[in-house]
Amino acid sequence: MSASDISTEVLVCSARGCRASAGWSLRWNNPRLHPPERRKTWLACDEHRGSLGDFLAARGFLREVAPLTESPTLEGWTRT
Ligand SMILES: [Zn+2]
Repeated sequence: MSASDISTEVLVCSARGCRASAGWSLRWNNPRLHPPERRKTWLACDEHRGSLGDFLAARGFLREVAPLTESPTLEGWTRT
């Protein structure tokens, strides 16, 4: 038990089995499931940014890719 369990939550890559800390946020939308303004977010490490991005782009879901380092406070971050 330690107080750091809460305060040091690390944002990890969304790729299956990957435990690397994420440096990128991939915003996507599936028009068949989501209203157009809706954004789902996957997190990606440097290694998986390409493969996760390609996966979404191939389906026409990818909307934007943003570096997490530009928003260190993660203001507006929503976990869905
Ligand atoms: Zn990864």
